[in-house]
Amino acid sequence: MSTCCVVVAAGRGARSGLAVNKVFFRWQGRSVLSRCLDALEASGKYDAIALVLAAEDMERWTALTEEEGAHPSVKYIVPGGATRQESVYAGLQALPEDTRLVSVHDAARPFVTADIIRATLADAATCGSGVISAPVTDTIKLVGDDGRISTLERARLRSVQTPQSFDYIRLMRAYDMAFEEGLQVTDDAALYEHCYGSVKLSESKDAAANIKLTNPADFARLNVPAVRIGTGYDAHRLKEGRRLVLCGVDIPHTRGLDGHSDADVATHALMDALLGAAALGDIGKLFPDRDPAYKGICSLILLEEVARRLRAAGYEIGNADVTIVAQAPKLAPFIMNMRERLAGAMGIGMDQVSVKATTTERMGFEGDETGISAQATALIVRMKG
Ligand code: MG
Repeated sequence: MSTCCVVVAAGRGARSGLAVNKVFFRWQGRSVLSRCLDALEASGKYDAIALVLAAEDMERWTALTEEEGAHPSVKYIVPGGATRQESVYAGLQALPEDTRLVSVHDAARPFVTADIIRATLADAATCGSGVISAPVTDTIKLVGDDGRISTLERARLRSVQTPQSFDYIRLMRAYDMAFEEGLQVTDDAALYEHCYGSVKLSESKDAAANIKLTNPADFARLNVPAVRIGTGYDAHRLKEGRRLVLCGVDIPHTRGLDGHSDADVATHALMDALLGAAALGDIGKLFPDRDPAYKGICSLILLEEVARRLRAAGYEIGNADVTIVAQAPKLAPFIMNMRERLAGAMGIGMDQVSVKATTTERMGFEGDETGISAQATALIVRMKG
C-alpha cells in the first residue's frame, strides 16, 4: 500500500506574463518546479510522484534535472491533457495499483510544507479526503445574474488550495463518473464533492503562505529582498616613505600604508562591502594587484568603477558605514572630508555615508602601529528586475 502524489505542471501559466511555463521560472538559482518537488520529498510522505508535464516541456524538464539535480521520488513522467482535469486523470492512471492515498498538487505552489501535507493525508486516511484550506481575509461579494451585489459572511468562507489528498480508489471512481457525465470542474475537491456530497477541509498554520504563483506581481515579489547588505574588511601595513591615504584624503603622518595602489584601506573595505552586497565578487578579483594598470592608482577611481558596476547590475547604493581602526594619527579632523570624497565617488549624498575612527587601546597590530585596518557595511537597493 503506497502513498503517491500527482504534481500538475502542464499549464501554460499564461497569466504569469512570463515567456516560459511559470514552473520553470528560477529565482535565487532554483526553479519553482524544483522547489515544489524538494518540499514534497522533504515531507517524507510519498513513495512515488507522478509529474504531469506538457509535451513541449519534456526537454526542458530533462535540462532542469541536469542543472538543478534529480528528484528520485519522481517515478512517472506523464504527458498532460487539454485541461487540468485531463492532466490530473492521466497522472492518477500512471500510479501503481496498490496506491492507497494520493495527493494532487499544483507545481505553482512551491511553498507547500510537511505540516500541510501531513494534515491533508491524515484527513484523507480517516475521512476519504483532505483538502488544505485557509480562512478568507478579503470580504467576498457575490454578483447576481441581475447585477445585484450581495455580501457573503466572511467567517463561513474558506479558500481551498492544493495539496488535496484522497483515498485513491474513491477519487478514481469520482474521475470516471465525471468523464461519463461530461462534468468539468476546476479542482479535485469539486469533483469529489459531486460524487460523494462533501470534502473534509484540512487546516495548517502554514496554509496562509502556501500561495499559488499566478500573476506577474507574484513573480516580481520573489526577487525580494529588494534590499541587500554587504560587509568588507581590509588591513595594510604601515611603512616609511609612503603617503597615508584614507577615504581618498591625504593625511599628514610619519608613515603611510604599503600596497600596490594608494593602499587606501578604508576605501578598499567599502568597495568589498558594496561588491559583497551585490554578490559581484571582490576587489582582488576586479582589480588584481598584479595588473600594472592599478599601480599607485587612487582608490576613489576604483570606487567610482564599483558604483558604476552596481548600477549596471540594477542596484542603487542605500547607505554605507566605514570604521577605520588606527592608533595614530587622530582622524577626527578629516572625517567630513572623507565622507565628502566617498559620497562623490559613489554618486550619492554625504548623509548616506558614515566614516568613524577608533583605536584598539594599543592592542594588536593596529595598537602597536604595525598597520591600519578598516571595516565597512553597505546597503544596496534593487531598482529593477
Ligand atoms: Mg587593500
